[in-house]
Parts: sequence; C-alpha cells; structure tokens
Amino acid sequence: MIEYVPYSGEPEAMNCPAAICDTCREQVVGEGNIVWCIRAGNKGEQRQQSPLFASHEGGCDCALGRWLEAQYPLDDNWINLSDEIDVFLKQLGNNVGRSFADDPRGDYHQVIVRMPTDPLQEQPR
Ligand SMILES: [Zn+2]
Repeated sequence: MIEYVPYSGEPEAMNCPAAICDTCREQVVGEGNIVWCIRAGNKGEQRQQSPLFASHEGGCDCALGRWLEAQYPLDDNWINLSDEIDVFLKQLGNNVGRSFADDPRGDYHQVIVRMPTDPLQEQPR
C-alpha cells in the first residue's frame, strides 16, 4: 500500500510517503505493481473495487495475486488488475490536479470500495 514511513535523522524527523510491498513489507523501489480487484455487477449495479495494493514484481506479485483471489473470488465475478507503479504514479499526479467533474469528454463513475473479506487472515506469503 501507499504508506507513510517514519524517518528519524538529519535534517529532521519526518514521515516519508512510499510504496510498501503488501507481500514482504519492504519498500518498492524501481519496478513494482499496483494491484487491485474489481467486480463488475449486473447492469445498473455500481462497480465494486478493492483497496489498492503494491508489490514487487515476480514472487511477491504472484503471492499477492493468490491472496487477492482468496479475498475477492473469481467465481464471485471479481478480477485482478494491475498497473506498473511508475505509470500509476504519473496518472495519479496528473489526476490530483484536475477535477473529473469538470471534464466534458466523458463520465467518471463512483465505485463501492470493499475491504478484504477477512481482515484477520494472514498477509500474502
Ligand atoms: Zn515484496
């Protein structure tokens, strides 16, 4: 997830935003993915989405995918999506500065965010 990592040192203590891998809990530096699930409901139903997770590419990504499939089952119409973290961050930086409501080109739709079904379940490994 995107988290604040507390820093103590010079020039001063601070909180540093960072991508932390949801599988190994280490900082994602360089290549990595933002991973989430969506559930497209029937016509007229509002789309559902999981929170966004972060992972290193490779083994961490695979483990996170397996954990997400247990939380958001394919047989309940959930699908996993991912974006390269650098692409995600560029789009996020762009979208923070512009209002979807003022975009005349199309419509943006609200989603229902569903937290993991079993928050006491162990983290992905
Ligand atoms: Zn990792």
